[in-house]
Amino acid sequence: MLLNRSERSFPRIIIIGGGFGGVEVARKLKDKDVEVLLIDRNNFHTFQPLMYQVATGTLAEDSISFPIRKMFKSQMNFKFRLAEVQRIDRENKEVITSIGTFDYDYLVIATGATTNFFGNEEVEKYALPMKSVKEALNIRSYVLQNLEEAVLRKNIADRERYLNFVIVGGGPTGVELSGAIAEIQLHMLKKDYPELTEHEMNVYLIEGTDKILGALSEKSSRDAQRYLKELGVKTLLNTQVTGYDGNTISFNNGQSIPTKTVIWGAGVKGQFPDGIESERVERGNRIRTNGQCQVEGMEGVYAIGDVSAYITEGTPRGLPGVAPVAQQQGRYVAQHIMNSINDKPTEEDFTYFDKGSMATIGRNRAVVDMGKFHMKGFIAWLTWMFVHLVSIFGFRNKVVTFVNWTIKFLTKNSGIRLIINKYNRPQPVK
Ligand SMILES: Cc1cc2nc3c(=O)[nH]c(=O)nc-3n(C[C@H](O)[C@H](O)[C@H](O)COP(=O)(O)OP(=O)(O)OC[C@H]3O[C@@H](n4cnc5c(N)ncnc54)[C@H](O)[C@@H]3O)c2cc1C
Repeated sequence: MLLNRSERSFPRIIIIGGGFGGVEVARKLKDKDVEVLLIDRNNFHTFQPLMYQVATGTLAEDSISFPIRKMFKSQMNFKFRLAEVQRIDRENKEVITSIGTFDYDYLVIATGATTNFFGNEEVEKYALPMKSVKEALNIRSYVLQNLEEAVLRKNIADRERYLNFVIVGGGPTGVELSGAIAEIQLHMLKKDYPELTEHEMNVYLIEGTDKILGALSEKSSRDAQRYLKELGVKTLLNTQVTGYDGNTISFNNGQSIPTKTVIWGAGVKGQFPDGIESERVERGNRIRTNGQCQVEGMEGVYAIGDVSAYITEGTPRGLPGVAPVAQQQGRYVAQHIMNSINDKPTEEDFTYFDKGSMATIGRNRAVVDMGKFHMKGFIAWLTWMFVHLVSIFGFRNKVVTFVNWTIKFLTKNSGIRLIINKYNRPQPVK
């Protein structure tokens, strides 16, 4: 049972969202004289950096998901509720959820981001997003469904649109996904689908600017593009999507590609419950915070991670939407809350320590930037694997992931090729 404000002996900190940021706040508050109540619409934490491996069948969904209650089983001051938070009532310091209302003394909004289709409703209707485990599983099913459909079509021109796979967005998600789908083409197609030939399948990566991996160094961008080419991925730069009707994707340069599969990795926007006034919301639907991660004008309310925008002269567009930002902000906020409870001032503003960026392209190639230091190829891939293995939650998940990667490395042929839930995409009009 959860007690009301007047009945509690410790202050209650509500965290909305059990992603990278929210989990870190809760962990850092272990053994403190507070009540931590984490609310999430899912009962698990998702390790999003490996989501593309679920979408392409290298990993099962339970390798990248970890039950939140299990994660905190030894934390006595921790409570969890499975619910959708609908509204924040700052006057009464309450959150209104799908299972009832909870009052808070401190509130941390760590609700992350969702896919941004930039208002293009047609694209939103037919393209596949990849922001949740469910969406990643949809992609897995849909890619396999389209290969099955292609087999049924005798005419090469007819099968073309089932065998063209288009990924929009040349950031790490798009690059990693393109590489992984290209490997399906190289190592799985011939074995599982002898009716189809390898050269019939095409993987396209569409990027609106003049380079992929725009947030990484010039060298990483160039190397990644070369690796994609070696895998057979056709990268179209300076190309913007103007429409997708479920059968054909069209671009601003007048070109088009017949395709049944468009995967959208071109943008995200913050998501949060009602109750935040629009003047506190920045570009990309992110909540503006001050240097101490607090939502201005909302006492005791913090916003961290992908949903937040900490804008300074040095970071006019806010901090990058990556896991380390959310985690470091989570730790900072936990300390800030404890200082506030203990009437201690927090002198320093939050500063982000950027350890570097990386992306993998296929089975044994990656690019890594750490400050001015750049790595590529196999060594970078080993580094990428190591960093992801140590970061993923749970001993079992680490072991299962490692075993899967080893089998894939040795056989080139691992993969979960199951259509458990058929994905029923809306049918195009024509
Ligand atoms: C495919 C993909 C690949 C990525 N790869 C990398 C990478 O390689 N490296 C990297 O650093 N970053 C990567 N990122 C970005 C990284 O995952 C995010 O920056 C990070 O997850 C942000 O953490 P967060 O805590 O802000 O939000 P999230 O981790 O997204 O967590 C938000 C949580 O809030 C919950 N929630 C949202 N709204 C509500 C509500 N109203 N009620 C209840 N619960 C709610 C959600 O269920 C979710 O659990 C990737 C992201 C994606 C999608």
